[in-house]
Amino acid sequence: MYPLLLVRYGELSLKGRNRKTFEDLLLSNMRARLVDLPHGRITKTFGRIYLETKDNWAELAQRLQGVFGIVSVSPVLRRSLDIEEIKEGASLIIQDTPGRTFKVEARRPNKSFPLTSPEICQSLGGHILRNFSHLTVDVHRPDFVLNVEIRQEGAFLYSQVFPCLGGLPAGSSGKGLLLLSGGIDSPVAGFLSMKRGVSLEGLHFYSYPFTSERSKAKVVELASLLAPYNARGKFKLWIAYFTEIQKALQQISYDALSITLMRRFMLRIATQLAEREKALALITGDSLGQVASQTMESIHVINAVTTTPVFRPLIGLDKQEIIDLAVKIGTYETSILPYEDCCTVFVPSNPATKPKLDQVLKAESELDVDGLIAEALAKTELLVVGP
Ligand code: ATP
Ligand code: MG
Repeated sequence: MYPLLLVRYGELSLKGRNRKTFEDLLLSNMRARLVDLPHGRITKTFGRIYLETKDNWAELAQRLQGVFGIVSVSPVLRRSLDIEEIKEGASLIIQDTPGRTFKVEARRPNKSFPLTSPEICQSLGGHILRNFSHLTVDVHRPDFVLNVEIRQEGAFLYSQVFPCLGGLPAGSSGKGLLLLSGGIDSPVAGFLSMKRGVSLEGLHFYSYPFTSERSKAKVVELASLLAPYNARGKFKLWIAYFTEIQKALQQISYDALSITLMRRFMLRIATQLAEREKALALITGDSLGQVASQTMESIHVINAVTTTPVFRPLIGLDKQEIIDLAVKIGTYETSILPYEDCCTVFVPSNPATKPKLDQVLKAESELDVDGLIAEALAKTELLVVGP
C-alpha cells in the first residue's frame, strides 16, 4: 500500500560542515543493509531520506530499524495535488491506523496549492469525522496524527512512526578495534560503539588446541551477527595466535597473576594491530567489578601497557542489562553456546583482584614479551565477514 518510506535522521544535522559526509555514509550503510531486498531509488531532500518500496514496505522498514543514524521511519502514501485525491488517501491511512482520537497536521512548502495549511486540516478533519464514526479529534493528546505534506512533487501522507536505533552512522566517528571473545559482553560492547559512529574491526585471541575449532567458529558467527550494523555491512575479524603466550603463562611463578598478564598481552597486541590498521581506539566488554580482571586495580595495571584509548562501553552496566541488550541485538543465543574460551581454560583458582604493578613487571621479566608478541602478530590471520 505504501510506495515510499520516509527516513528521519537526527543528530547528523548537528554536524555542520561534515553533514554531507555523514549523510553519504548513512546512505551507503542503508544500501548495504538493503542489498538483498527489492527496492527503488533512495533520495535525499532537505534533511530527510525517501526510499521507494516494491510492495514490501514493512520488510524494508524493519531492516532500516537496524541502521545506526536513523531515528524513525514512516510508511508514506503519495497522491496528486488534488484535494479529493488527498481525502481518498487519508481514508486509506485511517483504515490502516489504530486509535480513537486523531488530529491532522499539514505543511505546505508548495505555496501554489490553492488551500492553506489550516484549510487542508479543516477539510481533511471534516472528511474523516464524516466517514469514520469511531474517531474524534483531540488536538492535545491524539492517539495518532495524520500528517500531510504538500510539495512540488505531490501530496505525501502518513500516520505511523516507527522508532529506530538512533545514534550516528557506523563509520562517521572513526575506526575502532574490538577485542571480541566468545562471551556475552564483547559483542554488546561492539554494538554500542558502532551506535556512536565507530567502524569496527574485531580481534580474537585463539589458543588452538587449548580451544577448539568450534570456539573459533562461534566468534566468526558473532562477527557475522555484528556485520550488518557495521559500516558498509562488513566486518574484518583478525584471529591472533595466542597459543604460545598461553603456554608461556603456565610456566611463570605467579599463578594468581596469569589473567592480569594475559590481558596485558592482549592489549599490547591489540595496540600494535590498531596502529597498523589505523584504528584510534580499542574496545572491550569490561564491566566494572564483574570479574577479578575488571576491578579498578586490575584495569589500572592492565591498561598501563597502552597509550591507545580503551573504550569500555559496558563499564556501568549490570550483567542482566548486558544480557538484555545481547538478546535484543541477536547475539545472546550464539554467545551462550558452551565452547571454551582461552580465558576459561587457564583460570587460576585464586586470580588477583588487586594486582601490584611491580609484581606484574617482575613476572613479565621471566618472559620474552616482545618475542611472544611478534610471533602472535606474525601468525595473525584475517577473515572478512559480510556481503
Ligand atoms: P566477554 O568475553 O564477552 O566479556 P566474559 O565476561 O566471559 O564475556 P571476560 O573474561 O570478562 O569475558 O573478558 C573481558 C574482555 O576481554 C572481553 O569483553 C573482551 O573484550 C576481552 N577478551 C577476553 N577474551 C578474549 C579473547 N579470547 N579474544 C579477544 N578478546 C577477549
Ligand atoms: Mg566480561
